[in-house]
Amino acid sequence: MREEYIRPWEKNIRSVVPYVPGEQPREKDVIKLNTNENPFPPAPGVEKVLKNMDTDSLRLYPDPTIGLLVEEIAKFYQVEKEQVFVGVGSDDVLAMAYLTFFNSDKPILFPDITYSFYPVWCDLYRIPYETPALDEEFRLVKEDYYKDNGGIIIANPNAPTSIYESISTIEDIVAHNTNSVVIIDEAYIDFAGESALSLIDKYDNLLVVQTFSKSRSMAGMRIGFAMGNKKLIKALNDVKYSFNSYTLNQAAILAGVEAIKDKQYFKEGINKLIEIRKEAEKSLKELGFDFPASGANFLFVTHKTIPAKKLYEVLKENNIYVRYFDLPRISNYLRVTIGSKEQMDKLFEFLNQYINNK
Ligand code: PMP
Repeated sequence: MREEYIRPWEKNIRSVVPYVPGEQPREKDVIKLNTNENPFPPAPGVEKVLKNMDTDSLRLYPDPTIGLLVEEIAKFYQVEKEQVFVGVGSDDVLAMAYLTFFNSDKPILFPDITYSFYPVWCDLYRIPYETPALDEEFRLVKEDYYKDNGGIIIANPNAPTSIYESISTIEDIVAHNTNSVVIIDEAYIDFAGESALSLIDKYDNLLVVQTFSKSRSMAGMRIGFAMGNKKLIKALNDVKYSFNSYTLNQAAILAGVEAIKDKQYFKEGINKLIEIRKEAEKSLKELGFDFPASGANFLFVTHKTIPAKKLYEVLKENNIYVRYFDLPRISNYLRVTIGSKEQMDKLFEFLNQYINNK
């Protein structure tokens, strides 16, 4: 066999195994419960501002400081403007945070089962990492983080397990690691409990990252943000301006401002979603599923007799998309996003019929 000729420039290509996002089927009649999107529309002000947008303003570059949105986020969370960094979804914020803070020769730490983007950024930036195992119940073992490291990232609530760890567990890890930056990825925190935000003035090594994609129903707009002490935020901005000054587009800035201003719509939406989650838990139990208590807009379920992969496949054949990860320890689980009441009714109509006729 002839060996394939590799051109010199090919040897210099950065080779990475990319993160694989959930499928985005475009057909209209699909029940899409696979990427943790919110089933409700964004706040009414978002539609208004986009419809009335002055498109002539698009001739100009957007404000590189994203000032209007930074100010509203600071107001909402009662922090200073200099404590807020905004990016193109929390994936962008996290990618910038890795580049900014994880520059040690020591490995960074994150759990073995967590957001599958974390190791991808490590490979991209060539950051060494270790993945301490979650315990049998998928709970964080805080003592595993009592060792020398180049940084820590923890999703709380965790994905895909949905488990929320108490703020005292998080504080314990931050307090044991004052020599490195600890990032708490709170993409799902609004469906859970207390945020680590209350700790940012006490610990200058703590960065809290959140998103508009889940609790504010704006995954399509791509808005994420980080909060921490002013030094961390300045460092993040310095890296951002060295990479791409104009990150958020004009429409996203205006829409983001409207979304965060509407506190009542935000609260009501979360309560509605938690109500549907409670009903789903009851139905799943009745059908023989098991799952940890969820602090997120999804449930991490396993069935006592039917293999997860099989269920994933039959659901998909019936136009119901959930997420399946063929990974060690979790290959018999499905991650099911909480959809609208109508979507969940259809899911359970199918499951009832499928499981009870087996
Ligand atoms: N962190 C976690 C734990 C997630 O599950 C997600 C969603 N895929 C993100 C961050 C990124 O979300 P976004 O970029 O939409 O803000």
